Amino acid sequence: MEKILVHACCASCSSYVLEHLKKRFQATAYYYNPNIQPEKEYLLRLDEMKQVCEKLGIELIEGPYDTKSWWREIEPHKHLPEKSERCWTCYGVRLDETARKAAELGTGLFTTTLSVSPHKIHSCIVREGQAAAERHNVRFLAEDFKKRDGFKISVERSRELGLTRQDYCGCLLSLDEANKRRNQEL
Ligand code: SF4
Repeated sequence: MEKILVHACCASCSSYVLEHLKKRFQATAYYYNPNIQPEKEYLLRLDEMKQVCEKLGIELIEGPYDTKSWWREIEPHKHLPEKSERCWTCYGVRLDETARKAAELGTGLFTTTLSVSPHKIHSCIVREGQAAAERHNVRFLAEDFKKRDGFKISVERSRELGLTRQDYCGCLLSLDEANKRRNQEL
């Protein structure tokens, strides 16, 4: 089977996507998410990723937790809301590093679990993934994993495995936005 490096954003999105890809590829998961802050949350999501990968028999590689470089890229867009250039840049940072890692490992193909979420914009994921693939001379699998009930199945898998369903996307900006939404609902 062909090898694929799968950028894994969290265990709840990865459970279904990795199970689905395992049928067609020799998959390795890559946890590269310096956007996830604070560190306590990053470690919690990493711990759940380890549990899912162990259960599926998939190798998990942890990338560097380089939050300073992530902030440097996001800084010009930090005033923008979720689902804007801020998030496209965040996808781009993570996909560029995954493409670089795939090339380093000699894995010619990579993808991301991001597209299983209805909160992520697939066309922007594809644009950033393909640009990263070109830069590093690898290929991007532009599959929209939420299709064919992918999101629904990922919610079911998360429940079965007792995984946390996050109440914010990952960065401190999204944590602040989620807190504001909650306060408005009170
Ligand atoms: S909301 Fe999510 S995708 Fe957007 S910048 Fe924050 S962590 Fe990245």
